[in-house]
Amino acid sequence: MARYTGPVCRLCRREGMKLMLKGDRCMSPKCSIERRPTAPGVHGAKRQRKLSDFGLQLREKQKARRIYGVLEKQFRKHYDSAQRRTGATGENLLQILELRLDNVVHRLGFADSRKQARQLVRHGHFTVNGRKTDIPSYITKAGDTIALKQESRNKEYFKVVAEVIGRRDVPGWLTIDPRALSGRILSVPGRSEIDTTLEEQLIVEYYSR
Ligand code: SF4
Repeated sequence: MARYTGPVCRLCRREGMKLMLKGDRCMSPKCSIERRPTAPGVHGAKRQRKLSDFGLQLREKQKARRIYGVLEKQFRKHYDSAQRRTGATGENLLQILELRLDNVVHRLGFADSRKQARQLVRHGHFTVNGRKTDIPSYITKAGDTIALKQESRNKEYFKVVAEVIGRRDVPGWLTIDPRALSGRILSVPGRSEIDTTLEEQLIVEYYSR
């Protein structure tokens, strides 16, 4: 399945919640959910039918995929990997999604959105523990250091990032060194440190049918 390239605000309106796919715009009055909080399409403004249990599970899985920008096949791989780990599968899944390299780059403040972070990673601007890594789905681990490559520091985009990155909020499981333009993963995030409003149990139920 091809990656979705249409208007991303439409995805938020479909899910009926802010998926935060557009960086700063999501926090502004320009956000489409603020201006038009109905489902997309000609019949979007009609009252929505009550969802079945399956519908709820499917929507929760789609929400997670859209928030983290992961295609179904990759998402299923993450789920299988979460199942193999000890502990609650739902929490494991969220931890894996959070530890994806594109998400970590976004959380560290190098990019406004995960989509932008994925592009920066693909273009080879980052190293993990000193090795160039250009795979957005690469799963980082506690203790890893993610840094901007020396050659990329002279790019206009990263010059702007260097000025503001120290002022950005970073979750407690990460730490950023604004001078070195590098960040470290202090620990695997616990559920309380992951701020997505997903009901991960519904995703587990969806794949357990
Ligand atoms: Fe979603 Fe952000 Fe668009 Fe608002 S601005 S609808 S949160 S992507």
